[in-house]
Amino acid sequence: MSAQILDGKAIAAEVTEALVGLGPRPGLAVVLVGEDPASAVYVRNKTRMAEKLGFYHEQLNLPATVTQDELLQVLHRLNHDDRVHGILVQLPLPKHLDSLAVIDAIDPAKDVDGFHVVSTGKLWQKRPCLSPCTPTGVMEMLRRTGVPLRGAEAVVIGRSNIVGKPMVALLERQDCTVTLAHSRTRDLAAHVGRADIVVAAVGVAELVKGAWIREGAVVIDVGMNRGVDGKLVGDVEFAAAAERASWITPVPGGVGPMTIAMLMVNTARAAGALL
Ligand code: NAP
Repeated sequence: MSAQILDGKAIAAEVTEALVGLGPRPGLAVVLVGEDPASAVYVRNKTRMAEKLGFYHEQLNLPATVTQDELLQVLHRLNHDDRVHGILVQLPLPKHLDSLAVIDAIDPAKDVDGFHVVSTGKLWQKRPCLSPCTPTGVMEMLRRTGVPLRGAEAVVIGRSNIVGKPMVALLERQDCTVTLAHSRTRDLAAHVGRADIVVAAVGVAELVKGAWIREGAVVIDVGMNRGVDGKLVGDVEFAAAAERASWITPVPGGVGPMTIAMLMVNTARAAGALL
């Protein structure tokens, strides 16, 4: 089998086009602490997309020395700003800040990253909520393959709060049977070999070998790793996996663009401009 490519760029463009000119006008505030270059790029891309869609947008750049109290005051102000429907604090934060307390200071109704403990609880209880952008983008891609999810065997590799765990919750909501693999998992190859759907969110270049993939499986590669040549490479051995998969996401141009698209969707939903 030779896999069809799940083109995240094209799907993201389609998703965001539908968000232009919404009313009420959605508003997004993005908070960047410090000067980490990668974080600065992510934040700029998010703000630019909000601008492109005509959303109200604010980017707040705070110094790396900002105190917890100062940051909480900024969030308090944004929580009470009616123009702002979505608040995102770019992670990771400098070590002296308590990330969990910072995220929990965001009004859950404005938690467009879906990382707040209230959002997490609602997600697992199958209540309406703003769900984390990357796994939500993966679900949108899976939906577009047309592959039935009910009863499908899914393996998620990686158990972070931002990707792996919410990915499990979202797949389970669609009646997949989900295995969550991590660094202590014995015989990862055997788990992957049983899966109809593989989602790799690890951060280790080409950890998942093409030969492990079950014939006809859908392979979603969330990983973004810098190869020795400086190029982006995923967690999956792309060429070999594409020989066996029915659908596969490339890196770059796969899950990455979907993350920003779903952030915009969440902001529109938080504004009440979208169901
Ligand atoms: P993370 O917090 O570092 O978590 C990595 C997970 O991978 C951990 O649960 C870890 O297990 C597991 N792991 C590490 N080595 C493993 C191995 N050899 N076998 C099996 N599991 C292993 O990472 P993250 O934030 O979830 O991000 C994962 C990747 O996705 C990164 O490359 C990141 O850049 C990328 N990412 C992409 C997007 C996007 O928009 N495309 C968004 C977010 C993240 P333990 O828990 O046992 O340590």
